[in-house]
Amino acid sequence: MTNSQKMKENRLCLALTESTLSKNVDIINKYKNYINMLELRADFLKSEELDQLNRFPQMTGLPVILTIRREKEGGTFKGSEKERIKLLNNAVSVNNTKHYAFVDIEDDFHNQDLENRINSNGTRIIRSLHDTDGIPENLADILKGLRQGPNDIPKAAVTPASTKDLISLIKVFKELEGQEKILLGMGSFGFITRILAPALGSYLSYVSAPDGNQAAPGHIAPDTMQELYRYKNINKKTKIYGVIGNPIMHSFSPKIHNKGFIKSGIDAVYLPIHIDRIEDYFTLAELLDIKGISITIPHKQSIIRHLENVDETVEKIGACNTLHKGNKKGWTGYNSDAWGFIEPLNSIFKKDSLSGKKITVVGAGGAARAIVYILQKKGASVLILNRTEEKAQKLAEDFNCSWGGLNSRGIEKTYDYNDIIVQTTNAGMYPDIHSDPFSDYSFTGKEIFYETIYNPPVTKLMQRAINAGCKVISGKEMLINQALKQFYLFTGKQFPCKNEIEFGKY
Ligand code: NAP
Repeated sequence: MTNSQKMKENRLCLALTESTLSKNVDIINKYKNYINMLELRADFLKSEELDQLNRFPQMTGLPVILTIRREKEGGTFKGSEKERIKLLNNAVSVNNTKHYAFVDIEDDFHNQDLENRINSNGTRIIRSLHDTDGIPENLADILKGLRQGPNDIPKAAVTPASTKDLISLIKVFKELEGQEKILLGMGSFGFITRILAPALGSYLSYVSAPDGNQAAPGHIAPDTMQELYRYKNINKKTKIYGVIGNPIMHSFSPKIHNKGFIKSGIDAVYLPIHIDRIEDYFTLAELLDIKGISITIPHKQSIIRHLENVDETVEKIGACNTLHKGNKKGWTGYNSDAWGFIEPLNSIFKKDSLSGKKITVVGAGGAARAIVYILQKKGASVLILNRTEEKAQKLAEDFNCSWGGLNSRGIEKTYDYNDIIVQTTNAGMYPDIHSDPFSDYSFTGKEIFYETIYNPPVTKLMQRAINAGCKVISGKEMLINQALKQFYLFTGKQFPCKNEIEFGKY
């Protein structure tokens, strides 16, 4: 494929931040299957490499952007402006066809001689603005003003600090629709603009090698961009799904749903979307035409009052972890946690119900509520133990169960409710991996132990249960099963590849 053919694809630009030109070539070779453009961040090069800048385009088979970024824009170039101009002049002064495709200079940079030289051999100027603290109010006008020559590409890399900021950035994309520009949001609130660049109308998106210096906050690895988010296929018609939470970037859900979309041949992408105020989700969803959403901490309860329709599980549990825009007007809320939790037990007990089973649930938070609801529905007798006893009592009263504290009396009762023990607290979850919320309980080996934490894959408490010979079910199984239910709600299709989900990858 020729370079000009490649440029018609969604443009994915690998920012090169190694200390020598040859090390940068090694990085290109490593990721060449995922990218179709390069940005040489010459500010990361050793000083002795800088007089070789004009050779670099010949060392690569791809269009290259040359950038020597100053410290005030987040770069590492410490020399004077005179030295920088000299370096840029030398770098673009080549008479063969293998020259830089673009030179990135900042919005306040003016040197007509250099700009003429850049333009004279067909190199285009990217005129860029960087805001590492926020988003300038009149960003659309600023971008228009950055197009100073007919071939210039205006660029703004800005930092949304809230969902509200992200909304204003998406509005700038809409206002400048059809106009050539590079526009991206840095940091976790801006993350989705990097993935959706081709749909929103950014000329390119940037990635960095994970093993080197990150060129800007929010860059992800080239293989993650292509294999997890299938960047090369993103287009205006790609349906948008995601998971909302605060924080959100740690979520495993994109690894599940994106795999399902790819395997099912559905033109859709599933993104981690950082939402601080739940009200702002609905504005964002309208702007991006989001089709379905998973909801995680802290929005599972607060979202309910904004919904037109909820199913029975949301009503009973009082928490919602899935929204879908189906045929009904507005969003419908579901809770797939209860379903995800019970699936592994259904496979163990087959058609038998849990009637007669005596089960202890440790914890009385949101997850426990979904779990107690479904256990009761299946006919089990449940004992709820919680650090804060009043919460155990409240949950027990709502679902007609027994209750107690996480103390010696509570533990004593457990020996009478130990067909299954379900752990639903945060204790033992990364980074608190040395905690064991049930340390005074001694497993007999006959219990089924069910851990809802999925990170780490084996908690300290779960390891004790394994050592005692118990059958164990991991939080990963619950997580995957609740996501499978969501996938069905989103698409009307069964998840195609449950056994291929890999949490470790990307
Ligand atoms: P939540 O509503 O905040 O409830 C937290 C619960 O943990 C409360 O009962 C709290 O007790 C207890 N707790 C926290 N720290 C503790 C400690 N150091 N010792 C003893 N108890 C402690 O949270 P949630 O939404 O229920 O989530 C809880 C857990 O479930 C998380 O680990 C999450 O990963 C897991 N989860 C897993 C899945 C899955 O798909 N696998 C789905 C949902 C949730 P107090 O009332 O005394 O504060």
